[in-house]
Amino acid sequence: MFKKTCSLFIVIFLAGCSCVHKNRDILYQTSTINALIEGVYEGDITFKELKEHGDFGLGTVNELDGEMLALDGIFYQVRSDGMAYLIDPSMKTPFAVVTFFEPDKALSIDKPLNCKELSDYLDCLLPTENIFYAVKLEGTFKYIKARSVPVQNKPYPPLVEAVKDQKIFEFHNINGTIVGFRFPGYMKGVNVPGYHLHFITEDRKAGGHLLECTIADAHAGIDYTNNLFIALPGESAFYNINLAKDKQDQLDKIEK
Ligand code: ZN
Repeated sequence: MFKKTCSLFIVIFLAGCSCVHKNRDILYQTSTINALIEGVYEGDITFKELKEHGDFGLGTVNELDGEMLALDGIFYQVRSDGMAYLIDPSMKTPFAVVTFFEPDKALSIDKPLNCKELSDYLDCLLPTENIFYAVKLEGTFKYIKARSVPVQNKPYPPLVEAVKDQKIFEFHNINGTIVGFRFPGYMKGVNVPGYHLHFITEDRKAGGHLLECTIADAHAGIDYTNNLFIALPGESAFYNINLAKDKQDQLDKIEK
């Protein structure tokens, strides 16, 4: 039991530390999911800085201007028109998770699994529910339902209000890549418990936050990760919100 506790290395990042750069087997997160739920849509980390911590991941961009996805070191912003745009390194993010994707497990899926069946299937293969996983699925999908959110203006509404104006995009028989993470249930409030996945088409022109899927044929890679580094925002709206409340009900409405 003692060994298990010690193997989970959580660091809260404040500023100026370069000590994690050497470790590529680490998730780097900015802010917390509950801060995003509370409407903290401006962060101080640029994508130039974020890229130093990973080539793979997801999140959003400042002012909640769409869904963010990073794949092979390229950062994309899927705006509410459903189109994927390249992110300028000077842009900032209020919430993101990245890592250097180096899969520990590879598998092929040739059954028509939907998103729920996919998460159950992956859960069966994982050695434990208690560490972090980066997940990548590349292939052909019979169906994808994704969404993006429109850019927000101050005063920022809470996320549950902002997603009421979300735009839905459906794809049929489409090639592309799903990118995301699985966080343990005990990380509630810090990140999204369970799977949080984003999608981008093979031509890298469209995508979004994944709501539903049916896989036709895909190759999956899972990167097992025991380390998490959290960069909290500096003095800002983040300092003045209540992050102690349970927001799981809101998160269920937002993510699904
Ligand atoms: Zn998302």
